[in-house]
Amino acid sequence: MTRDELTRWLTETDPARLTELWRRADAARQSAVGHAVHLRALLEISNYCIRLCLYCGLRAPNTCLLRYRMTAGEIAACAAQAAAHGCGTLVLQAGEDEGLTTIWVADLVRRLKAETGLAITLSLGERGPTELAAWRRAGADRYLLRFETSNNQLLTPLHPARPGQQLDRRALLRTLRDLGYEVGSGTMIGLPGQSFADLASDLLLFRELDLDMIGVGPYIPHPDTPLGAAASHKRSAATQVPADELTTYKVIALARLLCPLANIPATTALATLNPQTGYELGLQRGANVIMPNFTPAPYRRAYDVYPGKPAARDDLEHHWDTLTARLAALGRPLGSGPGASPNWLQRHADTAAERPRRWA
Ligand code: SAH
Repeated sequence: MTRDELTRWLTETDPARLTELWRRADAARQSAVGHAVHLRALLEISNYCIRLCLYCGLRAPNTCLLRYRMTAGEIAACAAQAAAHGCGTLVLQAGEDEGLTTIWVADLVRRLKAETGLAITLSLGERGPTELAAWRRAGADRYLLRFETSNNQLLTPLHPARPGQQLDRRALLRTLRDLGYEVGSGTMIGLPGQSFADLASDLLLFRELDLDMIGVGPYIPHPDTPLGAAASHKRSAATQVPADELTTYKVIALARLLCPLANIPATTALATLNPQTGYELGLQRGANVIMPNFTPAPYRRAYDVYPGKPAARDDLEHHWDTLTARLAALGRPLGSGPGASPNWLQRHADTAAERPRRWA
């Protein structure tokens, strides 16, 4: 698909054409990654963050937030719960927290692997190549790091680089790939100033980076952030991408068509816009993953990246029962095992097949 075709789909309003897009994305999902929905247990292990991102409630200057960092024991207990519920993967996410040291995270990954055997996904922000390598050696399988938007003019002021460092999430994504991680990235949809051409470039970058996992969600203004506080005062331009459900489904569907073998979640941010059927519609328009939240309730409430997360109101058992009943009603079976990305499996099979030749 060309940039122009992508832009046309992104601005499409004809219901019949959109039905055709959903049908094509659903067929591509079915033939590339199958019918199962993989459940990734999400644990938000720390909300400390040294960064100043203008859109995110965890930003360092936000003093309205009670900060927490889970202990290794608390994390291990939640991991056991996730395994007992049948999840094959544990996702450890946090703000950019220097308290999560290289050694502490490596020890934690080793412990969780030994105790649960779950696949481990890390999402700890921009960390150095040496520590990313150490965590991979400790057994971490996957890493999620969204590039947020491919338009650097838009990103640089919204996501200020660390003092003295160049902002380059794309380079880090390549490092992660070289280290053998399954690599996930993605964007926010409807950031103020984002155009449909930007969104088309995001989609093309998903393919260029050959991503194993793609997570996209609507931008949701947070009142305690500079960007969220400014939102109500600003009139948006005609080219502005809406931060809405429909655009999110379009990006999910197009991501599936461009990167058929990737694992693609129906994200919590999407379910925040539509708590009733957001997951279902995402899963019927290209997605094959859901990330149920296993973070203990008081911490979950304090992991306040954006307001209104649906799971923040529910206890785990209620959240779990509701989610599995909804998937059953949709007629989609739960995935079993680690549910590695077919894109990563194929890349590694190719590399293995090439190895004897390269070493000959
Ligand atoms: N510190 C980690 C995890 C950040 S939270 C990292 O930087 O990778 C995970 C994702 O939440 C971010 O990558 C961003 O895409 C999304 N996010 C942050 N603020 C948001 C907002 N206001 N609305 C919607 N999504 C947001």
